[in-house]
Amino acid sequence: DERGQQSTAEAVLELDGVTKSFGSECAVEELSLPVREGELLTLLGPSGCGKTTTLRLIAGLERPDGGSIRVGGERVAAGDERSFVAPERRDVGVVFQDFALFPHMSAAENVAFGLDDWDDEAREARVEELLELVGLADHAASTPDELSGGQKQRVALARSLAPEPEILLLDEPFSNLDVDLRVEMREEVRRILKEAGVTGVSVTHDQEEAMSISDRVAVMNDGQLMQVGRPEEVFQHPESRFVAGFLGHASFLSASVVDDIVETPLGRVGRDRIHGLAPEYDRAEIDVLVRPDDVLIRPAEEGRVDGRVTYRRYLGPTVLYRVELENGDVVEAMHNHAERVELEAPVGVELAATHDLAWFPTEDH
Ligand code: ATP
Repeated sequence: DERGQQSTAEAVLELDGVTKSFGSECAVEELSLPVREGELLTLLGPSGCGKTTTLRLIAGLERPDGGSIRVGGERVAAGDERSFVAPERRDVGVVFQDFALFPHMSAAENVAFGLDDWDDEAREARVEELLELVGLADHAASTPDELSGGQKQRVALARSLAPEPEILLLDEPFSNLDVDLRVEMREEVRRILKEAGVTGVSVTHDQEEAMSISDRVAVMNDGQLMQVGRPEEVFQHPESRFVAGFLGHASFLSASVVDDIVETPLGRVGRDRIHGLAPEYDRAEIDVLVRPDDVLIRPAEEGRVDGRVTYRRYLGPTVLYRVELENGDVVEAMHNHAERVELEAPVGVELAATHDLAWFPTEDH
């Protein structure tokens, strides 16, 4: 559990009740979040949820109205002016969305930029080490206009890592890259951070990106932290309908709990399959979360009719269907592209999930 893991790894960055408003607009509200040494944590949420503001607060580019921020145990910001530590004195590196490289400087000079106070020999060795780490040892003399998008990102990473920051912040790190390059650079950024042994905090609105690179994901909405956990934890066991829906397609089955059985419109499941269903939900109505790959549909000729196709979207390898069930529930199903089921077609529907299922109280709409 969350607390158990926390005691095994030290929090190198700690946000405690951090609040920041712009006029009457509360961008970040009472945000508390420990970030563990060496982990890569991603702030994930829709546009305007406050993730960039959170990153800027950690960097020292904004001051909080209340709460406190600690880096390596040292308080770097709180509601009062006195405890504010300037960005350059925080041991925090930032990789900006547009990489912000110096155009007239070579890759090596860019990487050396933050190492003014190092002696020449140490600086040279550090630059070489970093260019090696990011896979650009052969491009030390190239200027940014001679580098590809992915290579520019590598230089930006190397430059931010060179002064050995405790924490590296990455603002929408892949938004300036072509789609093809994004997936490759996700792997690379993760590898580079892990090899450098730095603690990373990144920001994105892309749930697939967040889940694929992060050790933990912190889902935000409306300035608030909704849930934080490992990608599979937040995906499989969302604590709110918002998190369930933001991380992927989510449909809900109206179900009744009857002793050890949960009756759903797609058949009965054992109560032990419903994740963390509390005893007070004996004989209660609940909504059970299903994802498209938990649901199988087949043409109705083969068996009884369970529903009717109301929506169909071809996605290449799979097709996403929306099916209205007899009881009015609407579920989404992923189906192999080879077998075409038409719009309006009557279908048989089966709950194929073998994992435990998340649920919400019905009144919680
Ligand atoms: P996006 O993904 O679009 O960048 P975000 O989740 O990063 O969104 P923030 O940029 O942190 O969100 O903004 C949170 C809220 O604070 C928004 O309503 C935004 O309009 C407001 N806000 C952010 N910065 C400022 C500012 N400097 N002045 C006024 N309002 C601001």
